[in-house]
Amino acid sequence: MDTVSLTGKDLAAAINADTAQRAAALTASGPAPRLALVVATDDPASAWYVNSLRKAAERLGIACDRIDLGADASAEAIRAELAARGEDPAVDAIMLQTPLPAGVALEDVSSAIAAAKDVDGVSPLSLGLLATGLDGFVPATSEAVVELLKFHRIALEGKRVAIVGRSNVVGKPLGQLLLAENATVTIAHSRTADLPAVTSAADIVVAAAGRIGLVTGDHVGEGAVVIDVGTNETADGGIVGDVDAETVRGKASALSPVPGGVGPVTTALLMRHVVRAAELARTA
Ligand code: NAP
Repeated sequence: MDTVSLTGKDLAAAINADTAQRAAALTASGPAPRLALVVATDDPASAWYVNSLRKAAERLGIACDRIDLGADASAEAIRAELAARGEDPAVDAIMLQTPLPAGVALEDVSSAIAAAKDVDGVSPLSLGLLATGLDGFVPATSEAVVELLKFHRIALEGKRVAIVGRSNVVGKPLGQLLLAENATVTIAHSRTADLPAVTSAADIVVAAAGRIGLVTGDHVGEGAVVIDVGTNETADGGIVGDVDAETVRGKASALSPVPGGVGPVTTALLMRHVVRAAELARTA
């Protein structure tokens, strides 16, 4: 079977074109929309990602401040910084970069992000709004998976979707978004018994575990659609997903590449959220 590549580049370009226009409209009547990126890590992969977000923001006419708290910042210091940016009227949007310092869990600090500025939808309030079907910012990676599937005209209603990974930032919110699209959702994790049996019964498999090569041809039913969310660093500094493309290609009807699939759409959606936060703040 020919396996279609579900690339994210065209979708990201379309989202970015709209975002740039909206950012320009905001800047014509006030300051540029502004994102505060709070960083408390010296992880090199994270530094690379933060840099790429700053460049993306710059290209779209969004101001971006990097606030570096250092890799040994306490939960209190991170919460205080997030709260201060929440109260700062010059800041439209806040994003907290992970990983966090050892001993600090995202759940310990994310409630300090004001919901109106929580453009990556990580706070308990944002996640609760999503779970109850109310308006709020949705985690960009989860939204990117749904948008990528829709862009490539893959129907979701009534489809069996297996998500591998149950984190609060990817797996769980993606489950909520897919339920809202009337898919039938199974969320698997590290304690799932017989993962291949669970995933190969699905029409759509989403790999979001952060494990190189976890999803192989044995995990995928004939003709299934496979979305690879994983971004794992290789020894030579490259990025690979969670899917073993070699064994999945030829069995799946479609597969999203890494890089170039979910990643660029995630960044584009984050930036769209920043502009949305600024639009809402200025009409409030
Ligand atoms: P995470 O917090 O580490 O969660 C990983 C999840 O995968 C956990 O639920 C874990 O199960 C599950 N898991 C781990 N090993 C497994 C196994 N052998 N079998 C089944 N499930 C397993 O990671 P995350 O933040 O959700 O990120 C997941 C991946 O997405 C990472 O590669 C990350 O880099 C990538 N990501 C990509 C983007 C993007 O824009 N493309 C954005 C964010 C994240 P337990 O809960 O049982 O431990």
